[in-house]
Amino acid sequence: MEGQLHLGDDDALVVLRQAWEKSLALLAPEINKPSFESFFKTARPLSIHGPLVTIGAASELAKVFLEKYSELIKTAVEATLDREIELAFVVAPADKPKSSSPPKGTPKREGIISPISEPLNEKYVFANFIVGPSNRLAHAGCLAVAKKPGRAYNPLFLYGGSGLGKTHLLQAIAHYTLGNHPRTRVAYVSGETFTYHYVSALREHRSEDFRRKYRNIDVWLVDDIQFLVGKERTKEEFFHTFNALYQTGKQVVISSDRAPKDLDPVEERLISRFESGLVADIAPPDFETRLAILQDKADAEGSRVPDEVLAAVARLIQTNVRALEGALITLLAYSSLMKSRVTPSLAEQIIHRYLIEKKCTELTLDAVQRTVAQAFGVTVDDLCNSRRRKDLVTARHVAMYLSRELTGFPLAVIGKAFGGRDHATIAYACNRIKKLLEQDESLKQTVEHLADDLKSGRY
Ligand code: ADP
Ligand code: MG
Repeated sequence: MEGQLHLGDDDALVVLRQAWEKSLALLAPEINKPSFESFFKTARPLSIHGPLVTIGAASELAKVFLEKYSELIKTAVEATLDREIELAFVVAPADKPKSSSPPKGTPKREGIISPISEPLNEKYVFANFIVGPSNRLAHAGCLAVAKKPGRAYNPLFLYGGSGLGKTHLLQAIAHYTLGNHPRTRVAYVSGETFTYHYVSALREHRSEDFRRKYRNIDVWLVDDIQFLVGKERTKEEFFHTFNALYQTGKQVVISSDRAPKDLDPVEERLISRFESGLVADIAPPDFETRLAILQDKADAEGSRVPDEVLAAVARLIQTNVRALEGALITLLAYSSLMKSRVTPSLAEQIIHRYLIEKKCTELTLDAVQRTVAQAFGVTVDDLCNSRRRKDLVTARHVAMYLSRELTGFPLAVIGKAFGGRDHATIAYACNRIKKLLEQDESLKQTVEHLADDLKSGRY
């Protein structure tokens, strides 16, 4: 994001700073002391434009916390400024360097960010990336490419579901290259931005300019290339750009939510180009990796959370690292807000609520339903209605059982997802399946397979 500070607004900013100090004095008695010290005192007023006041929070956690109190803060700032305002919070750590960024041992920038590159997130460096079996190949490929651009694997193609670290790894290559390879030009461009650049260039008759800029790159990091699917002319241009760079030994790294062959089955030439380098997939992380990610993030937030609580989070959120981070932040905010120690069971409750808020509920339960329906040759509707055919009932009960076992959502929430049933129905179904599994070996195998697939994100 651009810096929020607008130099022309010096005077207004001075007034705002004074108002902020006074507001803090008003707020202090309302907030418990440790939270006040860690979140309020570390916040800084950044800008004021018309009614909009932007406050920089010291961390992601501090931002969540301040947002919870935004009405109270607004009232205090309005009282001290004596006018109505709108409040916005952004994460803007103070200038003192945090241990995690810039990463240890990163030399000063020597490479060059191409003017077409999107801005980079400073946190997306290799040092902040936890490696486990699910992402080991992708990580190794990226590191090799970062060390020897154009000479290790070319192109490097990463694919995997949302929130599994593709953008993080691509940008880590960018940071590494900028830090270690003098005069190397780096461009991180998403498929969406590429499309936008291309379409605007066409409209404004700047195709020459477009090509010149896109040919003047040494390391091209193309994120979310699936955005190009179905956009024939953009894809054509991408192909030319790719070839121009590739043939002159420039490094190309591509990420996608699916494998090259599933990107566009008719584009043989693209598929074979992509597959000529290294293709690495990223799977959802296993439990140990999820736990390690959580420990790392909790440390970075300067917060000590007991391992058994982090383990509870890692058990509940299984397929998306972004959701894992979000849940942790919510948890940390909650525990400072309530000044209470977070126990695993409290953590579970908070995470349930977080998932419901984020609509992950429907997503996860939906995935269970679809997978079970497919395995039993019935429809999702069959699982949710109340027809009594025996095979339907078993499939329905298995879906309820797996929902309970794998998502850990409260019974009432699961009931709702299954056509508005009550929690007792779900509890009954779970018990029934548990008993059946003891007697019926083939059902047991089916259910175990389904559970494995769902846990590893294969649906
Ligand atoms: P994608 O681009 O695949 O959708 P992102 O790269 O945006 O996913 O990752 C989502 C979030 O999860 C980011 O904040 C990222 O830093 C974090 N993340 C993903 N994988 C890891 C990992 N292995 N270690 C640490 N953080 C990770
Ligand atoms: Mg991404």
